[in-house]
Amino acid sequence: MGYWTPVHDSHSPIQSFNMRTKIIAGNWKMNGDREDALSLATEIMGIVADEYMGESEIILFPPFVHIQGVARLVENTRIKVGAQDCSAHKQGAYTGEVAASMLKSVGANYVLIGHSERRSYFNESSADLSAKIHQALDAGLKVIYCVGETLAQRQSGDHFEIIQSQLSECLYHFSADLMCHVVIAYEPVWAIGTGATATTDQAQEMHSFIRKSISNHFGADVAETIRILYGGSCNENNAQSLFSMADIDGGLIGGASLKSRSFVNILKCS
Ligand code: PEP
Repeated sequence: MGYWTPVHDSHSPIQSFNMRTKIIAGNWKMNGDREDALSLATEIMGIVADEYMGESEIILFPPFVHIQGVARLVENTRIKVGAQDCSAHKQGAYTGEVAASMLKSVGANYVLIGHSERRSYFNESSADLSAKIHQALDAGLKVIYCVGETLAQRQSGDHFEIIQSQLSECLYHFSADLMCHVVIAYEPVWAIGTGATATTDQAQEMHSFIRKSISNHFGADVAETIRILYGGSCNENNAQSLFSMADIDGGLIGGASLKSRSFVNILKCS
């Protein structure tokens, strides 16, 4: 659901309808063999076709090796596919890496960058993430850039400062035009996979902070257009209230995206 945003228009006193299409994205992480991935995607596709009449964008993030299979399966449907990461390099002698352009060539439209699991387990720095975002945008992929504070950072009251630096270090050197291809996911680290969801007020407060920060840097037009997703133990029971908040434009779903019924039920809340 969108909402009415008053804009100043010298030609007309009428308010304009500014709608951000919501996104529901499933991060499958490192789960499932080929058959599992194809059957999960097939189930989601079937339930969506039968039961979902809404407008939200649907994106599945399978592991690298299943991207092509899932992309072929969902081709010509409303479901899009993304990768969970990409290389910070364009091409060359980087054994084991996967370039953004390769992902694009096998059917990915999106890439997740900066997930807290990559920041912490793989020590990805702001410089790494910034280079990855650059490669992804250059290859024509859209980016879902993840930000989030740890429990200790929230408890010490540093959460706004942390999010501000995650935004400014990795995004604020891009142009406003490129920012239109970026979606932000606010994922408090303490809520990921723990069952401890942020309250709707905590989530809305941070989303509004992120939107203001983007507005201060890129201007109100960019800030009003950019989608900011919530991620962290989002499920069928809490999705509706989270997605009803003014600055929450959908969700990045981990655990609950591995069950087709739960994922589509969350989608129906958007
Ligand atoms: C995630 O890892 O992006 C995530 C949101 O996980 P979960 O929904 O399982 O907390």
